[in-house]
Amino acid sequence: MRVGLVLAAGRGTRVGAARNKMLLPVAGRTLLEHTLDRVVRADCLDYLLVAAAPEEYEIVAELVEQLPTEMPRAVCRGGATRQESVQAALAALPAETTAVCIHDGARPYIDPAEIERVMAALATHEGALLARPATDTVKIRATDDSLYTQPRETVWLAETPQAFRLETLREMYAVPTQVQAAATDDSSLLERLGRVPALIVAEKPNGKITTREDWQRFAAYVAGEGVLRVGNGYDVHRTCAGRPLIIGGVSIPADFGLDGHSDADVLTHAVMDALLAAAGLRDIGYYFPNTDERFRDADSLLLLVEVRRLLTARNVLIGNVSAALIAERPKLAPYIETMRENLARVLRVEPARVAIQVTTNEGLDDLGAGKGIAATATACVIERMV
Ligand code: MG
Repeated sequence: MRVGLVLAAGRGTRVGAARNKMLLPVAGRTLLEHTLDRVVRADCLDYLLVAAAPEEYEIVAELVEQLPTEMPRAVCRGGATRQESVQAALAALPAETTAVCIHDGARPYIDPAEIERVMAALATHEGALLARPATDTVKIRATDDSLYTQPRETVWLAETPQAFRLETLREMYAVPTQVQAAATDDSSLLERLGRVPALIVAEKPNGKITTREDWQRFAAYVAGEGVLRVGNGYDVHRTCAGRPLIIGGVSIPADFGLDGHSDADVLTHAVMDALLAAAGLRDIGYYFPNTDERFRDADSLLLLVEVRRLLTARNVLIGNVSAALIAERPKLAPYIETMRENLARVLRVEPARVAIQVTTNEGLDDLGAGKGIAATATACVIERMV
């Protein structure tokens, strides 16, 4: 059994995020999901193992569980360093494992064909790594400040995936912890044993997301990967007494609420319909019929999660959402930021990708008389070709 091991326990300090950058959203998925989506497309792998930071185990386990793939998979608790994570993974491998392909969770560009090429090298080598020839001239500064120019053709920049036969990987990680800690990649532990891994020349972009600029470049890359489609949604609910007023997942203090089968979250419903329409799917009445008792008083944000999953299963990413609320009262402006954060969190996009405008109906018609609240929404999605 050939196992793809994705290391996801890293920290996001250089992207400027307080939390693990791999759990930050890009276009409807976390960065980690973008990477995993590529890894599970490598036909040479039989099993996926993800090493998560112990404090993020539950959230990563949920993401991995929901991946739209048939590949058997599991999550293990990694450590504070890359080496500790690999050690933990070694203890969590299925018994039938013969080879392990290690990949950084922060390298989402990886082409599955590159994984195949690295794995294929294990037929003749006990280890293999993807590497890129240096394009800059490399200077080495000695401790006495003298400079030495390394011949460029001898310089290779190591990336991941790096794959090893299982017995080799166990041997590499049997060395003392301080030796492991000094290694900045896995291949160097094999080199240290005096053995030579196969060097597979990278043919496709495979950058690591490290800085905020890398992040923006990846978001732009994702948007350019497919066809843009837009969709519209509209919803209206009557106002009534004795029900809560919930809009965009926010409970708003008011002496009235909205009538409906679910929680009657008019904004979330319009956004759901816009997303479904953009993806070429049926409307929310089809997926969440108001005759179904499961949806009585349902939290509409949970229904929006289902919509995001419907899109993900069809390889549709989320570009942006723009919605307008039409309400005579109460004043909704104070709640807009929280509504945006709620919708963005559920859709796994940056809050800047969700816009909500509020307006009144200028006293005109029934909406203007306060008999209901309406919402319209437009969504832009990216339909991927791969
Ligand atoms: Mg509705």
